[in-house]
Amino acid sequence: MDELETQLRDLVVANRILAREEVVDAYGHVSVRHPDHADRYLLSCSRSPELVTLDDIVEHTLTGDPVGTEDRTLYAERHIHGAIFEQRPDVQAVVHNHSLAVLPFTVTTTPLRPMFHTAALMGNEVPVWDIRDNFGITGMLVVNMDQGRDLARTLGSNRAALMRGHGCVVAAASVKEAVMCSIYLQVNARLLLDSLPLGEVNYLLPGEVDALRDNLLRPVSMDRAWQYWRMRAGCEDL
Ligand code: MN
Repeated sequence: MDELETQLRDLVVANRILAREEVVDAYGHVSVRHPDHADRYLLSCSRSPELVTLDDIVEHTLTGDPVGTEDRTLYAERHIHGAIFEQRPDVQAVVHNHSLAVLPFTVTTTPLRPMFHTAALMGNEVPVWDIRDNFGITGMLVVNMDQGRDLARTLGSNRAALMRGHGCVVAAASVKEAVMCSIYLQVNARLLLDSLPLGEVNYLLPGEVDALRDNLLRPVSMDRAWQYWRMRAGCEDL
């Protein structure tokens, strides 16, 4: 299997895993940078992630146009992906989701910070982007490159950013890392919603986050989690 074939299959599996773990529902999407063309990315046409197959994957330019003839509808918010790939050469995969557990942290002043070990991939800081700051009253969706680039600027060099009243983005060095980070960002949000009513939260310290991240990114750790989620999503044969 060549690199493109591997990336395409992992991308389909990533769609199914994120659906199975309820990080995405009818909405939300995941992309990978094209392994042979750094100025393109691979993303499904407009379908719910649980239903995505290999045939649904469309090659996009960074500005969100399909490469070649395409008559299927594309995701309205595909510009999220291109704008992040454009700004971040280190990023190889992007997830956008509307996780219900994450949403409370997009509309309040309580920061979403890592508080348990496997959430360390999210990094120490998760900034909040508000589309209203620079675009006023909108339909809340990221529907053009100006909005995508504005979001990418707020993301900066971080792994994740929240989107006020909407959801979040995760930008990672591989599709497996993007999936792991998205899942544990959601779990961390749930645990914080459980912990905050009990009193002051003792968050992970930056040094702990760095040490944990290095450990989680080791293939022995990452591949074990991927194998587990892949089985749960019913993708053993993909
Ligand atoms: Mn959205």
